[in-house]
Amino acid sequence: MSYTNEFHIKTGSKVNLGKIDAGDQGDYENEEAVSAELKKYSQRLTELQALMYAENKHSLLIVLQAMDGGGKDGTIHHVMAAMNPQGCSVVGFKVPTAEELAHDYLWRIHKMTPTKGHITVFNRSHYEDVLVVRVHGLVLEEIWSKRYNEINEFERELANSGTTIVKFFLHIDKEEQLKRFRDRLDEPDKQWKISDSDYTEREYWDEYQRSYMDVLSKCSFNYAPWYVIPANHKWFRDLAVSQILVETLEGLKMKYPAPSVDLVAIKQKYHAEVAEESGLAAVELMADEEQLKEKKVKKKGKKKKKKKK
Ligand code: AMP
Ligand code: MG
Repeated sequence: MSYTNEFHIKTGSKVNLGKIDAGDQGDYENEEAVSAELKKYSQRLTELQALMYAENKHSLLIVLQAMDGGGKDGTIHHVMAAMNPQGCSVVGFKVPTAEELAHDYLWRIHKMTPTKGHITVFNRSHYEDVLVVRVHGLVLEEIWSKRYNEINEFERELANSGTTIVKFFLHIDKEEQLKRFRDRLDEPDKQWKISDSDYTEREYWDEYQRSYMDVLSKCSFNYAPWYVIPANHKWFRDLAVSQILVETLEGLKMKYPAPSVDLVAIKQKYHAEVAEESGLAAVELMADEEQLKEKKVKKKGKKKKKKKK
């Protein structure tokens, strides 16, 4: 099953979250049933990130949005575990500071976008400026209502500059949220997460859902698609997100850069002696060289043929 297709929000479609089953678990019975696949996707993510870093041409921006308790932290934990810290980062966006508020709302966002070869995960994002800001009337409607277009333009510019953008809304239902808050009360390692505001924000559930539906309906494009991930089951959420990331990265058709040095010359210059010393037959080394040369000749031949066509 390709979740990249199934959970993708088509441009201009009217999204109704009430009709999307947050408890969807695909064809899987339980967590055990996905463990082999999850592992496979994790390994593939590791490879693809290494490739992105080496190629140094593309970058990937992952935007994560969800209701409180929706599993942003857990998703980040799972996805980032597959990655080399050298090529990726996570940025969380909280209530803006005085300095951030003194700038336009995209100021703090733009400077955290990934550089070439890198992956950045946004834990919340510029979308808060049409979500919490709208729900609580933090700016006038005439201001926030213009932001959908501004955000689309901003993301288009990022995409045109080589940033691949993928946006996930982790979709849980209201009962699951309460269950997760309840679980936190009994788990000492989660109690620190509990806040009054989580409970008071629950009262605005419907307004948040409405605001999310507007975001999803107005801001999903091929250059920056939204995916609605059924997220009541954490293991299914991780599976769907990993699969979509793998398929997105594979779609970039990335390649390792060709070596910038003459490998044959390097071998001769720096490794011949070592090979002899360590008892490796010089013949072996020469055979290696011949193979490399042959490959080069074949490649050239192919290129010439292509040109003739
Ligand atoms: P958390 O992600 O649980 O650490 O909480 C971060 C808080 O910051 C959430 O309550 C968000 O709604 C809030 N927040 C993030 N961005 C903005 C923003 N642009 N304006 C107002 N509140 C924000
Ligand atoms: Mg929170």
